[in-house]
Amino acid sequence: MNKAPDCRTCIFFKITGDPSLPYACLQFEIKSARYPSQEVFLATGHHCPVYQRKPARKSERELDKGGWLA
Ligand code: SF4
Repeated sequence: MNKAPDCRTCIFFKITGDPSLPYACLQFEIKSARYPSQEVFLATGHHCPVYQRKPARKSERELDKGGWLA
C-alpha cells in the first residue's frame, strides 16, 4: 500500500463526539484530531496494515447493480 487508507471506510473507525479529538481507531485504541491512519504513518513511517473495508450498505449494493432507489 503506497498511501494511507481512508479511515472513513474502515470498520475500526469511529467519530468520538469530542471536538478536540473527533476521530478514533478501535484497532489502535487512539483518539486523534487527524484521521488515525495519518497518526499511524507519522508514528511508524508505515501505512496502516490492518485497514478493513466496511461492508457496502444496501443502498450502495443496489446502486452497484444499476438499480434505482425508491
Ligand atoms: S485500522 Fe487503520 S484504517 Fe482503520 S481506522 Fe484504524 S488507522 Fe484507520
